[in-house]
Amino acid sequence: MDLKKLAARLIPDENLPSLEECERAYPPRKLNEGAEVTRLAPSPTGFIHLGNLYSALADERTAHTTGGIFYLRIEDTDEKRKVEGAVESVIRSLDYFGINFDEGAEIDGENAYGPYYQRRRAPIYRAFAKDLLERGLAYPCFCTEEELDEIRRVQTENKEITGYYGKYAVWRDKTEEEVYAALEKGLPFVIRLKSQGDVNIKHTFRDAIKGSITVTENNQDVVILKSDGIPTYHFAHAVDDHFMRTTLVIRGEEWLSSLPIHIELFKVLGFPLPRYGHTCSLMKVDGGTKRKLSKRKDPELSLDFYRAAGYYPQAVIKYLMTILNSNFEEWAAKNPEKDYTAFPFSVSKMGKSGALFDLDKLNDVSRDELSKLSPEGMYEFLNGWVKEFGTEADRAHFENREYVIKILALIMGAGQKKRRKDIERAEQGVRLIDYFFDDTFTPEYSFRTDDETVNKMLSAFARTYDESDDNSAWFAKLKTAAAAAGFASENSEYKLNPEAFKGNVSDAAEIVRIAITGSPNSPDLCTVMSILGEQRSLARIAAAKR
Ligand code: GLU
Repeated sequence: MDLKKLAARLIPDENLPSLEECERAYPPRKLNEGAEVTRLAPSPTGFIHLGNLYSALADERTAHTTGGIFYLRIEDTDEKRKVEGAVESVIRSLDYFGINFDEGAEIDGENAYGPYYQRRRAPIYRAFAKDLLERGLAYPCFCTEEELDEIRRVQTENKEITGYYGKYAVWRDKTEEEVYAALEKGLPFVIRLKSQGDVNIKHTFRDAIKGSITVTENNQDVVILKSDGIPTYHFAHAVDDHFMRTTLVIRGEEWLSSLPIHIELFKVLGFPLPRYGHTCSLMKVDGGTKRKLSKRKDPELSLDFYRAAGYYPQAVIKYLMTILNSNFEEWAAKNPEKDYTAFPFSVSKMGKSGALFDLDKLNDVSRDELSKLSPEGMYEFLNGWVKEFGTEADRAHFENREYVIKILALIMGAGQKKRRKDIERAEQGVRLIDYFFDDTFTPEYSFRTDDETVNKMLSAFARTYDESDDNSAWFAKLKTAAAAAGFASENSEYKLNPEAFKGNVSDAAEIVRIAITGSPNSPDLCTVMSILGEQRSLARIAAAKR
């Protein structure tokens, strides 16, 4: 068969680049020895998830700890799954977590290995597919969906491996006449690889994450160009990762089963094989068993969840680092002042199987990280959340920057030896300050003493309260008021004869606390009152009387 003539008929495009032109246009990168080129290659489906962030962090750390390049490639070959705005959403989501690309789709800077949208690279794929056709390493297949279904049905019935291979590869050895007859009829066709592999041959393969694995040769005549002339993932992966000069392909372990196809494609294309690292899936414990995080069941799989719930981005990253490299936690404990970027990250230390993602652990890390912020830093973080997700009232409250910072300093225990870890997420931090504002102060008084005692205590304390009192003067007045309302002013007295009193000093203080904050638990009450100011404090005490 005249393969050149057939190739020209199947791919008649004029102006396809020559193979040498491609090599020249995308030369090997000039990087230092050991520098890794990694990429994130999402499909623009609009759903960016924790697995993407997990991979992106491994990619980004690998590139940036070795002086390499981390780029973004958009795998938009599947038109049906495409969602408007998805690319911007990927960039924005990752930027929120502090993950930045050096080059790629819509990123400023060096874009010399682009275009980074696969659809815009069609001429390159078509040039290489044409070359494979000319060399007899690819062929057209005119099978209909129904015919392929039938092949699958027979294979399933015979308990054979499904797919297009061996005797089932019906168009592999068709005659010239048969092929041209189909073309004359105008039947749609795909281009398939003419696999040279043998499933009886196995090779040892070194995966950068999984270590040594056994790979069986591919014998499937996989589709490389679909009927619309657009490549499949397999073919685009080989062509792009070669010409974008990726040195290490980090991708999900769901791709491990197609590795044999990729190894063969690189071979027939004459490209050196990049290294691969297949990441394990993120799992969670559910009802005592481990299972993969699922889009349907687990809202925490979506990255939008973390932004909306107000997770501190650095906490999420730090927690993911602990899953990525098991020695990170120890390093972080030894280097509390250092940023995670100072950690010597290594793909070879990544887990080989199921990484457990535990929301409770993330919450611990989050509380810990947030407790290290200054009140001003906390204000900025919360304000960022409030602007996007807060209520009208929240936004108005955060206009009072100084007032909010004073409250945060109190809540966080700023300046104290032991920082408090009250805040886990922005939303919760924002709710913690609600009672400092009259419009969101909605107390449900739950006094534990009778109304008369409550009134006595509140009146006695209000009469003597002076906002210029320091903490000890404030407490002395509280004790005096407590005694006047029938409480023991000293704990020792109360212990000796509890029957004689309405309660001890802290019971008395609780009445004032509930009046001021609406709750029996609050940070230092004297400070709360001083932040609120005398007028507002006294008004609250008056309003709480029974
Ligand atoms: N587009 C593929 C995906 O989203 C990329 C896999 C890869 O990184 O090669 O799963």
